[in-house]
Parts: sequence; structure tokens; C-alpha cells
Amino acid sequence: MSGAPAGHTSIVWLRRDLRLSDNAALYEACSKSERVCVAFVVNPPMLRDPSMGSPIVCAFFEALGALREDLRARGSDLAILIGDFTSELRSLAKRIEARAMYYNVDYEPAAVRRDATVEAALRADGLEVAAFVDHVYFSAGDVLQNNGSPYRVFTPYKRRWLDLRTFSPRLPFPSLRALEGRLLERLLIGGTAPVPKAEDFGFSNSAAYPHATEALAHLRLRDFLDGPARAYQIDRNIPSLDGTSRLSHHLRAGTIGVRTCVEQAVSRARSSGPQHRESIETWIAELVWRDFYQSVLKWFPKVENAPFLLAAQNVPWRSDQSDFSTWCDGRTGYPIVDAAMRQLNETGWMHNRLRMIAASFLSKHLLIDWHSGERYFHRQLADADLAQNNGGWQWAASTGTDAVPYFRIFNPVAQGKRFDPAGTFVKHFIPELANVPTKYVHEPWMMPPLLQAASGVTIGREYPAPIVVHNEARSRAIHVFKSTLGSSAGAKK
Ligand code: FAD
Repeated sequence: MSGAPAGHTSIVWLRRDLRLSDNAALYEACSKSERVCVAFVVNPPMLRDPSMGSPIVCAFFEALGALREDLRARGSDLAILIGDFTSELRSLAKRIEARAMYYNVDYEPAAVRRDATVEAALRADGLEVAAFVDHVYFSAGDVLQNNGSPYRVFTPYKRRWLDLRTFSPRLPFPSLRALEGRLLERLLIGGTAPVPKAEDFGFSNSAAYPHATEALAHLRLRDFLDGPARAYQIDRNIPSLDGTSRLSHHLRAGTIGVRTCVEQAVSRARSSGPQHRESIETWIAELVWRDFYQSVLKWFPKVENAPFLLAAQNVPWRSDQSDFSTWCDGRTGYPIVDAAMRQLNETGWMHNRLRMIAASFLSKHLLIDWHSGERYFHRQLADADLAQNNGGWQWAASTGTDAVPYFRIFNPVAQGKRFDPAGTFVKHFIPELANVPTKYVHEPWMMPPLLQAASGVTIGREYPAPIVVHNEARSRAIHVFKSTLGSSAGAKK
């Protein structure tokens, strides 16, 4: 963008960056303009897309409400526009006589197409438009191999990422305090829509869904770094513990910036002893995975619709609607899989270990196309994100960049016993199994009939018998994958 004309008004178009702090486009706009109007466009056709689900819509709308309050407390407002992206932004620009628009880049192919259309229209109207890197710590163009090509494997990507951070950290943008006088007065923004309600668009709300506001995100980051982060390396695999940050929906809606997360974690790691430091570094590595999958989406946008590994497009997936529904509803008869799916359906979030187990079960044990699982997760998750969701599914289905080798198939009973040894998590989400002795909680069908009666659960009646026999399903998957993929194998995770 060629230097902003003095005295001009700008629009900051927010999309997945619903916050005032550490926001690249907002900071740049406030630095370069005299007046800044923060806007968000609610686009009804986008909300009608089948990939859109209640938890993420509720999170976004809650974040919009909080943002509006924050802006009003500063004498400004959030311009909430409802309609077509281009025409709404055009008419806002006309109304407030804006001369420039700033926004943060999004790598999702549909967003790239949308942004190009909006940008072209506003430029045609004479506005200057500038886009910034914000939703990732390093942009996809920052972390490349020596020959300039993108990484396809995580470990070397991470090495390069960590080196780059050491020499060229992306520090959070300074507080807006000095610049907030630039925010356009509420009166000058004029009539904008009320904060939308999920119900108005056919979605349902639940108190169990994750809440998203900028204030909550900062509190959670602080509490996490003060507590669970120190034991993250071990506790992150135990779904019954509060062992992970639960920041994913905040990072998705942008109620916290990834630079803030990384830099606060780095400084906490520095002031911690070796054991805690290692744990915090493990957490930072998860944020590197996030950047990695974003970079994969940017450089290989075909992953949205196709497997990363060419050979995997020939895997003869089963198309069995009944088995698929059984998996979605958490009725497979494998308690750790069912508890995972019920956590997802009830709360709009699923623990990472369980995402791996549930995704592996659908794509390997049931041999159902990972795309169906990916779509289902997307509709159910408050943190639904094309890059991470697709990366996670392709990893589990052995079709992706760093995919798990096809012959390494999670045994749901062994995973349950290892990561939920007392069955605490399973019993929480499957109350039918509440009185089952620990020995059987991950394989309740092994209980003798008398014990089933004593535990108040008859297998096949109150709780289903296993949908497939593990060993048979495992052999079937290995046979199918081996004949399609040959001996290709990926890295471990
Ligand atoms: P933490 O353990 O605290 O991790 C911190 C942050 O790092 C997360 O908030 C997330 O932004 C990032 N992160 C953690 N694990 C991963 C990972 N494996 N890959 C990429 N980024 C990661 N994450 C999403 O944000 N959105 C999704 O739609 C999504 N779908 C997934 C689907 C599958 C099949 C799998 C296996 C993983 C998926 N993940 C997704 C990654 C991961 O499960 C979640 O980010 C994590 O469980 C969120 O909880 P947390 O914030 O407590 O994570």
C-alpha cells in the first residue's frame, strides 16, 4: 500500500481475527489512518453452507458481541453488516467516506476467492486495499526449504520454524492504547445491525459449547501457562484431565493472536526449570503443527478435496450410511470412540488424542472415506478449521503429508486402557457404563452376563455390541491399504 493519504478514514474488515489486541490489520490501520472503522460482514449464504455448525457460529457471534462492547466502551462501534461481502463493504465505504481497507489474509481457498473479488471491487471504487499476515505465526512463504519449495514433512519444517523464530521472532503488535483515539466515533459509523443470534440463522446454542471472547482467551492463556502447561507433555494425552490449553476455538475465531500465544509461552519457558520448560516447548510445537497445516493448505490447496498422497485416491472406501451414523452418534460399541463422539456432539470440542482415535476408527476400522468424517467434525467443532481438520484427518487416514503409516492402526481398547485407565472419561460421557468395573470399561462385551446384570448394562441392549471385531477390521484395513498404497509409510506422531 502506498502511504495513506493524510486525514483519511479506513475500514478494517475482520473475519477470523475478532480482537483488538495483537491484530496486524487493525494495528496497521490505526497507525496509518486518521479514523478507523472496524467492520464484520455476516453473510447468510455462508451460514447456510452445510459445513457450518452451531458451536462455531455461536463462538463467532459471542465474540462479535464482546468486540462490539469493547469498541463501544472506547466511543466507537463494530459495524455489523448483513449481506453480500462486496456490496456491504462498498456501501459502508461510501457512507463513512473511507479511502482504504485493511484485512488479514486467510489461506482457505474459498476465502482467497472471496477476498480477490472484494478487493477488486473496492479498488475499482478508488480505495487502497492492504492485506496482512495474522492468523499464523510465520506466513507460508516464510518457512521454505533452501530451494524455495514448501515443506511436505513436519519435522524439518519445525526445525526451520524454530530457527527462524530465534533469529526473527514475530512479536505481538503493541497495545492499541496509544492509537485507539483513531477509532471512528459510533455516531459517524451510523446504523449497523444488532449482534446476530445463532437461532435467527437456524442454529442452536448450548451452555456446553466453548465461549469465545478476547478477555476469556487472555485469561485462559494465563491460567494455562501458570498451571497445565507445566505438565503438558504428559497430561495432554489424558482426556479426563484439564491438560491442554482449550484455546483452539479462540485461535479459530481470532479472539487471541498466535503471536501472543507463542511469545508468552516462550518467555514462560525461559523462566521455568528444565522439566516445565520441556513441557511448554512441547505446547509450542503444537502451534507449529498449526502453522504447518496452514502452510500445507496454502501451497497444496488440492488437499481440500483430494488426498495429499496421489496413490491414496484409489483407496476403495466403503460407503455405508448406517455404519457412518453409528460412528457419528457414538454407538460403535467401543467406549473410547463413543465417549469421544459424544464429547464432540455435546460440547463442540474433542480432545486431540480422541480426535486421532475417532478418526482412525472411521477411516481404518470402518474403512469409510475420511472426507465424511472431516465434514462431520467440521459441523460439530467450535474450532472447525479447514487446514487443521483436513491435516488431522489425512494424517489419521494415512493419506496426508506426515501421515501415520497405514499399518499402524490404533487399537481402541488398548488406547482406552492407556489414556483413560480408570475409565473416568468414558463413564462421564457414557453414563450407561457408570457401574461397569474398571477391568471391563473399555471392553464391556467381555463382561459375563451376571456381571452385566449387576452393572445395570446388558450389551446389545443399554449399550451396543462392537460394530466390528478389532482384529478382523484391522486385517481388512491393512489389506486394502497395502494393495492401494504399496509399502509407502509416513512419520510417526
Ligand atoms: P492444545 O493441545 O492446547 O494445543 C494448542 C494449540 O495448538 C491448539 O489450540 C491448536 O491451535 C494447535 N494444535 C494442537 N494440536 C494440533 C494438531 N495436531 N494439528 C494442528 N494444530 C494443533 N484443530 C483445530 O484447531 N481445528 C480443527 O478443526 C481440528 N481438527 C482436527 C481433526 C483431527 C482428526 C485431528 C487428529 C486433529 C484436529 N485438530 C484440529 C488438532 C487438535 O486436535 C486441536 O487443535 C486440539 O485438540 C485443540 O485443543 P487445545 O486447544 O486444548 O489444544
